[in-house]
Amino acid sequence: MAPSISLFKSRDVAVIGAGAAGLVAARELRREGHKVVVFERERQVGGTWVYTPTVETDPLGSDPSRHIVHSSLYASLRTNLPREVMGFLDYPFVSTGEPHRDPRRFPGHREVSLYLKDFAVGFGLNELIRFETEVVYAGLVEDEKWRVKSRSGNDAAIDVEEIFDAVVVCNGHYTEPRLAEIPGIDAWPGKHMHSHNYRIPEPFRDQVVVLIGGAASAVDISMDIAQVAKAVHIASRSVEAGILKKLSGNAIDNMWLHPMIESVQKDGTVIFYDGSVVLADVILHCTGYKYHFPFLDTSGIVTVDDNRVGPLYKHIFPPHLAPGLSFVGLPWKVLPFPMFEFQSKWIAGALSGRIGLPSQEEMMADVSAFYLSLEASDTPKHYTHNLADSQFEYDDWLALECGIPGVEEWRKKMYEATAKNKKVRPDKYRDKWEDEDLMLEAQKDFAGCRL
Ligand code: FAD
Repeated sequence: MAPSISLFKSRDVAVIGAGAAGLVAARELRREGHKVVVFERERQVGGTWVYTPTVETDPLGSDPSRHIVHSSLYASLRTNLPREVMGFLDYPFVSTGEPHRDPRRFPGHREVSLYLKDFAVGFGLNELIRFETEVVYAGLVEDEKWRVKSRSGNDAAIDVEEIFDAVVVCNGHYTEPRLAEIPGIDAWPGKHMHSHNYRIPEPFRDQVVVLIGGAASAVDISMDIAQVAKAVHIASRSVEAGILKKLSGNAIDNMWLHPMIESVQKDGTVIFYDGSVVLADVILHCTGYKYHFPFLDTSGIVTVDDNRVGPLYKHIFPPHLAPGLSFVGLPWKVLPFPMFEFQSKWIAGALSGRIGLPSQEEMMADVSAFYLSLEASDTPKHYTHNLADSQFEYDDWLALECGIPGVEEWRKKMYEATAKNKKVRPDKYRDKWEDEDLMLEAQKDFAGCRL
């Protein structure tokens, strides 16, 4: 007979952040019988998905003393995944049919924020959350406990200090900009900014914009800006040097693709590696983000080195601090919400003792082998948490550890179908597709699933 859950330990757990990761972590931890406090700096749940027109005072986001704006969303943002694959496994992201909601398959950001609010209400999570409360310190104390200091106002005198058995870090990783290094930038007279502070295209009307990057938000933002700008020049690493051509796959005639920037000059010109030269008004860095844990003190056990957070067993547990410290949501190029759910179930089970972890030595050996495999395949260090092709293998491994089914076959196939569709119709994939059969399978699967 399976042992009852009461045989397992209930822990006091601090969850940092009430975005999608923190919400599902809180749910799984409570389901497992733990006592949970969620700390959330903002006044509502949703994290990244809470759009704000406000931008930071430093458009590059490099001044450490700036007032931090958490979300990096732009006004026009629609999801880049179909809602069927994007939602949590047992709380499908289906259209509610209500008039104020966005029923589209790739909805706007507000619909995701409302879905996360529904999730929090549906599972009674708001009662666990301390809103407008920032964790300013989380560090290990003796007896493997964690000291957490939090601040609810601007007054440092009202910092509250508490002791927890475990800390689950869910603070997101799309807030701290990574910038491209550009020779000559200090003397360049134009404006430059990071996409973290991009909201609407209007300020770029009739401007010549150079946009650096090639990932999802670079593509979206370049198309957004091209509607009003004089010209948009995209500098992307993935373009072979010497190639200068119109962005293929769409009909935007004021958008151009270049290799990376070689240098910028005092006269306002931008020189690309193929020798082409553009006189530009703005450089927009769509160059991604850095992992950042300003509150975390592990006495050097966990470090961030060239965007590698480590050492972490399976991107979650530092072997020497497991299971008391864990991270949800570090991997990228993934289906985030389902992955957060698998990670959270594993953490909850490991904390109660229901799921066993390998010894510290075994976990460290696994991490070392993983790093060696990255080196052997010439994967740069800053791609450590890029799962891409291995994401479903990773999710299914976690599911196996938890003793639950892995990712549904239709979800895997729909993810692949969307990726292919995006290549064929980069500007139209959100409104035209050919995977209706998979949509039907998903709907069948969802029947009876929602609360
Ligand atoms: P976040 O949503 O960032 O939440 C972290 C929370 O932690 C925030 O609420 C923050 O206020 C809080 N916090 C941080 N520090 C502290 C502290 N010290 N104390 C207390 N609270 C703190 N994913 C998709 O699935 N589909 C998409 O289409 C998609 N598009 C995206 C587009 C953009 C532009 C970006 C940036 C991301 C996109 N993502 C998308 C990924 C998205 O980030 C994830 O879906 C998910 O929202 C991340 O959730 P999270 O909980 O890990 O982090």
